[in-house]
Amino acid sequence: MEKEEILKKVISGKIKIYQIENFTETTEEAVEIRRAAIEKIRNISLNHIGKYSLNSENLFGKNIENMIGVVEVPMGIVGPLKVNGNYANGNFYVPMATSEGALVASTNRGASVITASGGAITTIFKNGMSRAPVLRLKSSRDYYKVSEFIVSNFDEIKKESEKNSRFRKLQKIVPYLVGRNLFLRFVYDTGDSMGMNGVTIGTDAAIKVIEDKFPEIKCVSLSGNLCTDKKSSAINLIEGRGKSITAEIMIPDKIIKDKLKTDADTLIDVNYRKNFIGSAQAGSYGFNAHFANIVAAIFLATGQDIAQVVEGSQGFTTVEKDENGVYFAVTLPSLEVATVGGGTRIETQKEALDILGISGGSKFSGDNAKALSEICASAVLAGEISLIGALAARHLTKAHMEYGR
Ligand code: NAP
Repeated sequence: MEKEEILKKVISGKIKIYQIENFTETTEEAVEIRRAAIEKIRNISLNHIGKYSLNSENLFGKNIENMIGVVEVPMGIVGPLKVNGNYANGNFYVPMATSEGALVASTNRGASVITASGGAITTIFKNGMSRAPVLRLKSSRDYYKVSEFIVSNFDEIKKESEKNSRFRKLQKIVPYLVGRNLFLRFVYDTGDSMGMNGVTIGTDAAIKVIEDKFPEIKCVSLSGNLCTDKKSSAINLIEGRGKSITAEIMIPDKIIKDKLKTDADTLIDVNYRKNFIGSAQAGSYGFNAHFANIVAAIFLATGQDIAQVVEGSQGFTTVEKDENGVYFAVTLPSLEVATVGGGTRIETQKEALDILGISGGSKFSGDNAKALSEICASAVLAGEISLIGALAARHLTKAHMEYGR
């Protein structure tokens, strides 16, 4: 069928917008027709959405459906940011994609404080991606037999859950009971991938072992929301999801004065009243100033699952008096990052990871994703130092007047 004819049929509804690829030789043609149909239907021009260098053939069926083009988001760079991590070591230039004026400049200021103070020290204290199906028991009493079965048959369940993957490794299954609903929180190491597709496949296979043993017990949903994916949750704050990480720095008094134009006591006071009292009063899990800003901008630039900013926004900023300055730290219990899979393979996002020197799989599986979590947490630390500093010095409004307008 000729292009014009397909277009007419799409506009008239005879060909649905999701069926166009079935009538064209290439994905790119389908993208053009779909975009042209929207332009005609809405009587508008999608000139900018239609300009891109990405190869739509690589995206279709993996990263996007019903594609019409791309949205462009400006990308800036923060650095040099010195990171003294176990996996990321050195001075980094961190790509951030955002349309929020002042964000990159502010994070850059925090980065210069960190670098001048010797570099952020990072500690990954947990690493595991979770999936938690919900099972309907006959009675809450079934809890005993199912949980005992899981303990005594862990090796078999683990083998099933890891089938057909070189990287997925089951670490543990934690049961939670609510009435006769049994939630099983499966936690895996997923190498350099974020892991959600993988752990869903693995958990589906594993749960069949339990269903085969107990035909009266049914898995109602493979995701029972105790995972918890893309929703604010206490479980991720306490148990962690993805990488649980702290980034810290000792900032000397002189640097606080020269670069942040404030002092140690004021930084501590602002952090305590804002990030702890204010957040507690609000019932927030974000005991921080703006983790989400930095996490979102890095996630967007480097092809992470952007909805997981929800988890990345949770966590704590702690500022304490130290000898000759302050101890400043951020703790992100659920930072879900990858250098393989999902959006990390898209050309522009892969280039952004190349700026950090960590695109693709690492020699020792998982090292690249861990390095990315260390860089991301250090950039979050930079963002917190700068914003708390600006609030302490009463500079925030001035900065936004200059950059954000
Ligand atoms: P994926 O792209 O589905 O899987 C990762 C692939 O990379 C696997 O095939 C893995 O091999 C391979 N791989 C190569 N080198 C690797 C290395 N060094 N470390 C780890 N894996 C390596 O990605 P995923 O992380 O499982 O899932 C991420 C995607 O899931 C994102 O697009 C996200 O938006 C989406 N998502 C899915 C759900 C869901 O419920 N399904 C929920 C939220 C998000 P093996 O096959 O040998 O393991």
